[in-house]
Amino acid sequence: MATFITDECINCGACVPECPNEAISEGDDIHIIDPNRCTECIGFHDYEACQSVCPVECCLPDPNRIESVEDLLARAIALHPDLTLPATVSELPDNLNRFSNPDHQKL
Ligand code: SF4
Ligand code: SF4
Repeated sequence: MATFITDECINCGACVPECPNEAISEGDDIHIIDPNRCTECIGFHDYEACQSVCPVECCLPDPNRIESVEDLLARAIALHPDLTLPATVSELPDNLNRFSNPDHQKL
């Protein structure tokens, strides 16, 4: 599921440069995540980089956008044709896949 930013956002901007997919931008009232660019950091980190720096921890999984790790990796590959990312989830190292990190799995 893509990550989304709740109304708790204080518009600090700390998350913007941390996103490997340039998915975060400033909205009218709060920062927003483009769900078509969010991979939940699959392919880059075993945690959500935005949430890791957010002072109010308001970058949360969107229950209305549940996506598989396969779909998220496919999105990362499509977004980064210039990078050599693992082609399949089984080739994805644990440190690039939060689904394999018990500390960062979603409930
Ligand atoms: S979870 Fe990762 S990919 Fe998604 S918006 Fe946050 S930093 Fe970007
Ligand atoms: S780090 Fe958190 S509070 Fe700051 S802009 Fe991003 S979502 Fe909003």
